[in-house]
Amino acid sequence: MSNALQSMNPAQREAVLYLNGPCLVLAGAGSGKTRVITQKIAYLINECGYDARGIIALTFTNKAAREMAERIQQSVEKKRLKGLTISTFHALGVRFLREEAVLAGLKPGFSILDSTDALGVIQELLATTDKGRLRSVQQQISLWKNALITPDDSEKIAQTPDEMDAARVYRSYDATLRAYQSVDFDDLIVMPATLMSTNDEVRERWQRRCRYMLLDEYQDTNVCQYQWVRSLTGLRDMFTAVGDDDQAIYAWRGATIENLAKLPQDYPALRIIKLEQNYRSVATVLDAANQVISRNPNLFGKKLWSTLGQGEPIQVVVMDNEEAEAESVGMRISASRFERKARWKDYAVLYRGNHQGRLFEQTFRELRIPYVIAGGQSFFDKAEVRDIIAYLRIVANEEDDPAFIRAVTTPKRGVGQASLTALGDTATQLNCSLFDAVHDELAATRIAPRQLEPLKVFVDFIRNIQWRSGRGRTDGGAATPAEGATELLDELMKYIDYERYLYDTQEERAAQSRWQNVLELTNWLKRKAQEDGLTLAQLVQHIALITMLERSEDDEDPDAVRLTTIHASKGLEYPYVHMVGVEEGLLPHFGKDDEYGDANKDAEALEVRIQEERRLMYVGITRAQFHLTLTWCKKRRKAREDLIREPSRFISEMGLETGVKTVVDPFSGMTPKERLVRLKEMLQKKG
Ligand code: ATP
Ligand code: MG
Repeated sequence: MSNALQSMNPAQREAVLYLNGPCLVLAGAGSGKTRVITQKIAYLINECGYDARGIIALTFTNKAAREMAERIQQSVEKKRLKGLTISTFHALGVRFLREEAVLAGLKPGFSILDSTDALGVIQELLATTDKGRLRSVQQQISLWKNALITPDDSEKIAQTPDEMDAARVYRSYDATLRAYQSVDFDDLIVMPATLMSTNDEVRERWQRRCRYMLLDEYQDTNVCQYQWVRSLTGLRDMFTAVGDDDQAIYAWRGATIENLAKLPQDYPALRIIKLEQNYRSVATVLDAANQVISRNPNLFGKKLWSTLGQGEPIQVVVMDNEEAEAESVGMRISASRFERKARWKDYAVLYRGNHQGRLFEQTFRELRIPYVIAGGQSFFDKAEVRDIIAYLRIVANEEDDPAFIRAVTTPKRGVGQASLTALGDTATQLNCSLFDAVHDELAATRIAPRQLEPLKVFVDFIRNIQWRSGRGRTDGGAATPAEGATELLDELMKYIDYERYLYDTQEERAAQSRWQNVLELTNWLKRKAQEDGLTLAQLVQHIALITMLERSEDDEDPDAVRLTTIHASKGLEYPYVHMVGVEEGLLPHFGKDDEYGDANKDAEALEVRIQEERRLMYVGITRAQFHLTLTWCKKRRKAREDLIREPSRFISEMGLETGVKTVVDPFSGMTPKERLVRLKEMLQKKG
């Protein structure tokens, strides 16, 4: 037996070795489920002679995929790892669609719209700027897509006004996306799943390819993902899924725990393995987690124990307001790091909603505490950055239809949806790019002159830049010497007039910060061009590559405190955890009109909601290895109003005092300056 196998407990080992059919590992947090997956991949390759190309492991986040890949590299020789797939469902979807683009009705260069882009499409179709309404329509369409409900079906089942709005635009939303040669995040799963079930050739190709599949966080898959998995593994039923029904926290995104319940029915030969030893947390943390979750009804009975010792008691801290909370957490982390001789990255701050992170960012910056935000958007994924890059892409390659569409419609140039569809038809008929179709006679017969004119102006301008950028003339003329990238970039930016567009379409603060990002991008491009002596054309050709390099920065593991939502912390572990805002109305969160004790709420719906929030609490608690601190605020500002808050019911469910009587904050009642002095004193005493 290999060393790796020896270090696992008997139940884990059984899960790794079992290859006679489908296998489900069902176990609580920190019991080594993810570890089973990594070990099993190593076992399949090292000892069962599996070709890595036939193994697909699916994780919930990119970070989890990277971590898993790193771990496997430690136990399998590099050359035997070639072709191994470890990715998220979405990343696998991208790969699938690039390979099967033609059959999916896409060009291989299709674009992926982020949710802001997609919201823009819905905004156009609904002709409203009511953000709340738009979001709710977007979410409804997303839920339908993931449940494999078609536009036709959606019209039949829509009942509430939001649902009717959604049903009304669902079809045209999809059509618009296709006209743009683009897909949204949901399409990355829905289109492969649908294609697999409707196209025999595709199904067989992928089934042959998929020899063994491993699924992490199985409890958070949705109907569509389940169907895709079923058809991918359909030839052999060879897969291992691991999950924990108590950690199902994505019902709001259409995940369904029924996928867990269904598995034994759909696969009568399923072997179910339970793990009971927790290797992550000390007893104080584990007991609190067990106590909270025991209030929920559960699908499969589970108990967890650990041998990591009792650990320090969990601390509950009550604060006056959210500013004091952020500051106190920062101070405590500083002090604790010093005291324990720990690293910044041993600390995590977990919160319920993304918006809570901002104050921690600001405060940590003031306190000079290094931090990273998990799940934060990459610079190159920001809409404004992608807008400008779309122009550069079209300068580099006029075949790039999605970039053409993005550039020609951002800012608006009076080119409507109908004209773009007509242009698309023309391009299809001529078998050329949208860019080249603009000047064809055929386009003139289909598009009104008033609409065609701005398109021609756009194309002519881009051609001119292309020609001067040193990439040669598109009309076959000889290349002229390239003009300086900086000047051309300035000219391009002047033409786009992006700053004005931002201020016309966004609120002032949003416009400001987006414009800052654009300046950062263009300055960086100019610097690059100068340093490396590149022409604009060369620069643009490098962008894709540079983007990838920039992205790889995420791979680094800086010594910084982790700020993250509880959702994004799933599957991860940290030595010391601060869970903040543990208040009624925030955690548990009651939804849109979040007010405490809303008598109109349907009691049953509320209970379902509380149960999901309780699972979220369970996920949060179980991230902590050695110590957990909970904070809540007596007052919290919301829309310029101070709301009086109550401690979360989960605190007493954990068997803890809410801290009201015994205020344990050493910084309580001090001005910021006094706090700093006090902190310095504390540090000096230790030193
Ligand atoms: P979660 O439900 O939070 O995703 P999990 O069940 O996937 O948790 P892992 O992340 O795989 O749990 O493991 C938790 C911790 O325990 C990790 O640090 C892992 O390395 C460690 N661990 C798992 N199994 C063993 C073992 N047999 N011996 C020692 N350490 C282990
Ligand atoms: Mg895990």
